[in-house]
Amino acid sequence: MGLARIGLGSNAGDATANVTRALEALATLGTVTTHSQLYVSKAWGERDQPDFVNAAALLETHLDPRALLDALKALEASLGRKATYRWGPRVIDLDILAYDDLEVREPDLRVPHERLFERAFALAPLAEIDPSFRPAYARLTPEQRAEVTPLASG
Ligand code: AMP
Repeated sequence: MGLARIGLGSNAGDATANVTRALEALATLGTVTTHSQLYVSKAWGERDQPDFVNAAALLETHLDPRALLDALKALEASLGRKATYRWGPRVIDLDILAYDDLEVREPDLRVPHERLFERAFALAPLAEIDPSFRPAYARLTPEQRAEVTPLASG
C-alpha cells in the first residue's frame, strides 16, 4: 500500500464542480484519507485564461506510481478532459505530486512532480493536509503564496 499525494486543478466549465467530482472519483483508486479545501489561483504559464480551482488529496492505494498515472489519465478522460494546447484551459488535471518517499525519473513520469516546489497552487493545498510539505511551502516567496487563496465559500 502506498500513500500518494494527488494535485487537482480545473479552469474550464464549472471548475468547482469539476474538482469536487474528481475528488469523489479518486475514491475508485483507493482510500482518500483526507483532502484540502478548494483554492483559487491565477492560470500559470498562459495567463490569459480563467482562474484555476485547485485542491490536493491523500490517497492510500495499491496502485504503484505507473499504474496510478494511467488510472489518473483514464479518470481525466472520463471526467471530460479534451486535449488542448500545453497549459491551456482544462476541465480537470490530476497529478501525482508525491508518492511515499519515492523518486521516479522517467521521461513521462516524474515523482515528486517536476515543478511541485515552485508551484504555490500545488504546495498550498498539499501543505494544508500534509505537514511534511509545510517547509517547502514556507520557502515560496510572499508573492508566490499570495497567488493562491482559499475559495470563499457561500
Ligand atoms: P498535463 O498536461 O499537465 O496533465 O501533463 C500530463 C503529462 O505529464 C502526462 O502525460 C504524464 O506523462 C506527465 N507526467 C510526468 N510526471 C507526472 C506526474 N507526477 N503526475 C502526472 N503526470 C505526470
